[in-house]
Amino acid sequence: MREGSGDRARRAAGRRRGSGDAVQELRQRTMAWAVRLRVNPRTVRVQDMDRKWGSCTSSGTVTLAYDLVHRTGDFQDYVIVHELLHLRLPNHGRLFKALLTAHVPGWRELEATAASGPAARWPR
Ligand SMILES: [Zn+2]
Repeated sequence: MREGSGDRARRAAGRRRGSGDAVQELRQRTMAWAVRLRVNPRTVRVQDMDRKWGSCTSSGTVTLAYDLVHRTGDFQDYVIVHELLHLRLPNHGRLFKALLTAHVPGWRELEATAASGPAARWPR
């Protein structure tokens, strides 16, 4: 019964129906964090991502999963700060985790919720 393509069609319809505002809010939230963290992403994209919540390239493109619009602000902050910190540090070393803890103190609990269940995924 082609459920997969139905899901994709529904998601696409949702985007057309006016989740544009939610995407704008996500991008604005990201830019506000960029100012706080003193980083300068070249591009912030919001798109469907099935296996992760976000990614960041060395050239400064930050990509966030579209379904973050359905998650809490705390969870959005966790993913946004994670990706933006990669503009300063490419790895997940001790300094990375210390900075993440400084800005999003509850990130370990948020990570635990992201990593459980059949749709487990993490920021990269
Ligand atoms: Zn990462």
